[in-house]
Amino acid sequence: MDVAQVLHMNEGTSQTSYATNSLIQQKAMSLTKSIKEEAITGVYKTTLASSLAIAELGCSSGPNALFAIQQLIKAVEKLCSKLKRESPEYRIFLNDLPGNDFNGIFKTIDSFKRQLSCEVEGGVGSCFIVGAPGSFYSRIFPAKSLHFVHSSYSLHWLSQVPEGVENNKGNIYISRSSPSNVVKAYYGQFQRDFSSFLKCRAEEVVEGGKMVLTFLGRRSDDPKSKECCYIWDLLAHALNDMVLEGLIKEEQMDGFNLPNYTPSPSEVNLEVVKEGSFTVNHMEVSEVSWKVACGEEDFSDGYGYKVAQCIRAVYEPLVVSHFGEAIVEHVFRQYQEILADRMLKENTVSINVTVSMTKLN
Ligand code: SAH
Repeated sequence: MDVAQVLHMNEGTSQTSYATNSLIQQKAMSLTKSIKEEAITGVYKTTLASSLAIAELGCSSGPNALFAIQQLIKAVEKLCSKLKRESPEYRIFLNDLPGNDFNGIFKTIDSFKRQLSCEVEGGVGSCFIVGAPGSFYSRIFPAKSLHFVHSSYSLHWLSQVPEGVENNKGNIYISRSSPSNVVKAYYGQFQRDFSSFLKCRAEEVVEGGKMVLTFLGRRSDDPKSKECCYIWDLLAHALNDMVLEGLIKEEQMDGFNLPNYTPSPSEVNLEVVKEGSFTVNHMEVSEVSWKVACGEEDFSDGYGYKVAQCIRAVYEPLVVSHFGEAIVEHVFRQYQEILADRMLKENTVSINVTVSMTKLN
C-alpha cells in the first residue's frame, strides 16, 4: 500500500465525510488548548515577530483544519493587547498529503477570518492562509521559515505499513496475539518516521521556535495495551466475522495491516532526545471518551453508529483500496454493531499524548 497515495480522510461534507465525523479529534484539540497557548505566547514574547509563521501539519478538512489556528491567533492577540503592542501579521500554512480535500478548507477561509475578527475585540492582524501539500516525513518548508508548528491526531500515521508483519494473522494492528516481530517492526517504523519528522522540522523551525504535537497514543509502556489497540481490534473483529461468512478471503484479511503507531510518552521523549534538535518543555496525557463522537445528540439506543462513522471517515479509503468497494457498507455495519455492544458494557476512551518542545541553537 502506498500510504501517501491512498490515505485521505473522506472528503466533502456528506454523512460519511471527515468534516461531519471528527468530534473526537476536535475534543482532543480543546483539551490541549492551554499547552498550545503557553507555547505560542512564549514564542511571541521571545521573538516579538511582526510576521508570525505557523504551520498546521496533517490539517485534514472540515472544522478541525483551522480549529487550533484560531486558538493560537486568539492567544497572541490577547497577549498583544496586554503588552499594548500592535498585532503581528499571521502566515498560516496548512499541510496534508496531496489527496486531502484542500479545496474544502479554502472555501471556508473567508468566513473563518470574518468570524475571528468578530470574536476578538479590536480585530486581529492580517492572516495569509495557504495550502502546503506533501508528506511531513520530508521537507515541506524553506529553512528557518517557521515560528510554530502544530499537529494533532496525525503523527500516529506512519509513512508505510512496516515490513515483516505478514505473520500478524487475524489482526490489523498490534494486538494481544501479535507475534513479537510484529511489535518490533511497528516500533522500528515509528522510530524511523518520527526521527525523520524531527530532522525535517529542525531545518524549518527558527531557533527558539516551538512545536506542539498530539499523538493518538497510550499511557502504558506496553504496545499491546488495550487502551491503544481496542478500536482496531474491534474493526479486525468485524473483518474476521466476514471471513467466517465467506465474504472476505482469509489471505486478504491477513494481508491487511494499518500504517499506524500509538506511542507512549516515553517513546516520544526518547526520539526527541536522540535526534537532539529540540528540547522537551512539557509532556501531557489526556483522554477522550468515544461517546464524544455523538456530540450533543442523544444516542440512548447505542453509540455504535456515530463511532463507526467516525472511524469510517478516516479508514474507508484504506479499506476500499485493499478489499474493494463492494464490502465497505457491510464492514462498517458489522463494526457498528460490535461497537454498540462494547460501549454499553465498557467505558471506552482514546488516549492522547501531547508534547511541547523548543528548537535549540
Ligand atoms: N488534525 C486534524 C486531522 C487529523 S486526521 C484533526 O485533528 O482533526 C490525520 C490527518 O493526517 C489526515 O488528514 C492525513 O491525511 C494526515 N496525514 C497522515 N500522514 C501524513 C503525512 N505523512 N504527511 C502529511 N499529512 C499526513
